[in-house]
Amino acid sequence: MTLLRKNLWLLYILLVLLSVLGFSFVLHQGWSNSVDKSTQQQQHLAVLVSKTTHSVFTNLEITLDIIGQSLIEDNTYPDHAKTNQLLSKSLTLNPYLAGFGLATPDGKITFVSNNLDTSQLPNLRESNQTAGSFIHALNSDKMVLGRTYFMSAANTWLIPIRKAIRDEKGNVLAVMTAGLKLGDSNDFLGSDLHLGEHSELTMIREFDHYVQYRSPQREGEYDFHQPISNQLFALAEQQAKQLYGLDIDAVKSTGKAVSFDLTIKGEKMSISAIYEPRYELWVLAETPKKQFYSDFWDSLATYILVFALLQIAIFFFFHSAANAEEKKQKLLLEQATHDLLTGLPNRNFLHSRSAYWFENPDHAFSILYLDMDHFKNVNDSLGHASGDKVLRQLADRLRKHLPEKSDLIRYGGDEFIIITPNIQEREIQSSADKIIHEVSQPYLVQGVRFNLGASIGVAHYPENGNNLDDLLRAADIAMYEAKKRRNCVRFFDKNMQSEYLERMEIEQQLRQALDHDEIYMVYQPQIDTQGKIFGVEALVRWENAHLGFVPPDRFIPVAESSGLMPSLGKFIIERCFADMNSLQNKLGYDLHLSINISVMQLMQDNFLVQLEQAMTELTFSHKLLYLEITENLFIEDLELVLPLLEKIHAMGIQISMDDFGTGYSSLSMLRKLPVDELKIDKSFIDNILLEDAAQNMIKSIIAIGKNYHMAVIAEGVESQEQADLLCELGCDRFQGYLFAKPMSLGALRELLLEPVSEKQSLIR
Ligand code: C2E
Ligand code: CA
Ligand code: CA
Repeated sequence: MTLLRKNLWLLYILLVLLSVLGFSFVLHQGWSNSVDKSTQQQQHLAVLVSKTTHSVFTNLEITLDIIGQSLIEDNTYPDHAKTNQLLSKSLTLNPYLAGFGLATPDGKITFVSNNLDTSQLPNLRESNQTAGSFIHALNSDKMVLGRTYFMSAANTWLIPIRKAIRDEKGNVLAVMTAGLKLGDSNDFLGSDLHLGEHSELTMIREFDHYVQYRSPQREGEYDFHQPISNQLFALAEQQAKQLYGLDIDAVKSTGKAVSFDLTIKGEKMSISAIYEPRYELWVLAETPKKQFYSDFWDSLATYILVFALLQIAIFFFFHSAANAEEKKQKLLLEQATHDLLTGLPNRNFLHSRSAYWFENPDHAFSILYLDMDHFKNVNDSLGHASGDKVLRQLADRLRKHLPEKSDLIRYGGDEFIIITPNIQEREIQSSADKIIHEVSQPYLVQGVRFNLGASIGVAHYPENGNNLDDLLRAADIAMYEAKKRRNCVRFFDKNMQSEYLERMEIEQQLRQALDHDEIYMVYQPQIDTQGKIFGVEALVRWENAHLGFVPPDRFIPVAESSGLMPSLGKFIIERCFADMNSLQNKLGYDLHLSINISVMQLMQDNFLVQLEQAMTELTFSHKLLYLEITENLFIEDLELVLPLLEKIHAMGIQISMDDFGTGYSSLSMLRKLPVDELKIDKSFIDNILLEDAAQNMIKSIIAIGKNYHMAVIAEGVESQEQADLLCELGCDRFQGYLFAKPMSLGALRELLLEPVSEKQSLIR
């Protein structure tokens, strides 16, 4: 079926060929029917003529007999007057007879009808022309026909007929003779005989093959003075033999007509012949073959019309079927190469289209790889239906701001590719900035209004790769670089490549890190103003056989982008709770625990369930837990993150805003957030003694904390001077190398079990 669908036109040609074949068959059939019909008509004619001839001649024979008999019996024979009267009367009764005569057996004509003159008539037995039939009549019981001849006296062609009159013993007393007129309105075959316009009748004498009779139309042209050529006769015989398997005697005896074709005087004729045995005549009906053709051509017009109509119908059927098929194929192709959700071309399209872009190596172009920032959060927090809506809006915005002559492709979930003939960096930068600006405008879905960012990586053909895969990879690498800063455009360069390869290496090793027991936790103490250890921040460590020590800010982003974060995060949480649990058992009192939570972790579907479960199983109290979440995360995905944070807060878990001061959280926003602790970023602490700006920043952070009843903790405190100043400014807690570096659980345990006096020295 599919084969047929593919070869619709082939099928069409096949059908046309078949119909031509069918048409030829029908034509052939029509032709042979037409020939059969004509032949049959011709045979009927031959039979009819044969019968008519028979009956006419039989009547004549009887007439001759009666007249002859009465002439002799009545003894009128010598009585001229009486005889003449009888003969003249008979002539009136038989108008197609030219005259009567009575001859003695030796050929002398003794009586004639009064229209004839005896003195002008020859001795029948002696005349060349009449001798044959006369002698034949003397020897025959039947009436005998003489050769047809032209009788000038009567100005007509005549068939002489003769009949011997015998006594009881069979001795010939006389021979009655008469002339049968041909070729006038009183033709002996009767005027009712319809030959048709083109048919001819011929009668040929079997005795000597002379023509006895021609139908009136053409008899003048015919030669009655010569026999039909033996060759023609032989040909006819041969044909009859071939067609009917009968030899001439058999044809004679069947009494049926046979038909065959003969070329006579250069014209092909169809002939039906029948033998009339009593008078030994071949009756032939002849029609020019071309008449058969022309009859057939007349009916052919109908055939051709029907055939042409059929062809037109078939053509239109196929034409519309092919059209429908083409449409269907187009639709299928469209579906295969386009994304259902956004209607944009998809990956398949990109691959098929690449032939166009790569066809000319001199034809430079650029690939822009766009990836939305934190799109997953939309799906996770608002559901996939909303995610789909956002993607549709996004696609519309991209379509509107697509550079000229460029292709836009939805490459993956929230990844889009733009191929543009543009290669000027400044121009690409400006159109990419415009795109980022557009897609960063707020989205409104289910009454929720939020912003999403986008990162774009750019690669050029042919500098950054000469096939689609290489170019896409280069653009992807540049995009990954852009992601580090978010909402920006990066152009691919070779250094990115090495960093990318390193990242790949990290990713590869990280996949087995948990199984290989390479991941562990360290804890960094946090001190309060009394110098007491208030709690610890858990920090993850990875020691790999090939890569050595890999710092967390190197591998955490890799874990996030490669889908490894959920299992790593789960491990961290469970390990921290287990460690704290054993520590508490040793110490006999509780410590606060701060755990860093990455964006991915927080947005994970079952994050809270997992956290709750771990806390229950490892008996860790909610109020002791701080989740450190970076400030940037709040800003970018506030709408999505807020409900989650509120849930966490409601569970009794505390929230710490990490790296505070580096982002741009507004005061109004901060008021909305359920934050318990602000963690001043290390960069401010580093500069607290050097820059007024840093000190002022710290002052305002502490003020905000006091205002909103949030604790303030300083991270990265390395010197006593920093600690003193922070203490003076009103900071609540401190963390840094000045007090303790991140340490193993064992080291922490020892530190905590040291005498109090030593611990107090941690702060002055
Ligand atoms: P962070 O959350 O800002 O962590 C504080 C970083 O500052 C830690 O680096 C810590 O070792 C370092 N630090 C603490 N006091 C001082 C000091 O006085 N001087 C100096 N120079 N550094 C100090 P680390 O452990 O390399 O962590 C780097 C970042 O990796 C962290 O920044 C955090 O964002 C991420 N990270 C570490 N552990 C985890 C974790 O378990 N989960 C997640 N999600 N992220 C983690
Ligand atoms: Ca932290
Ligand atoms: Ca930090």
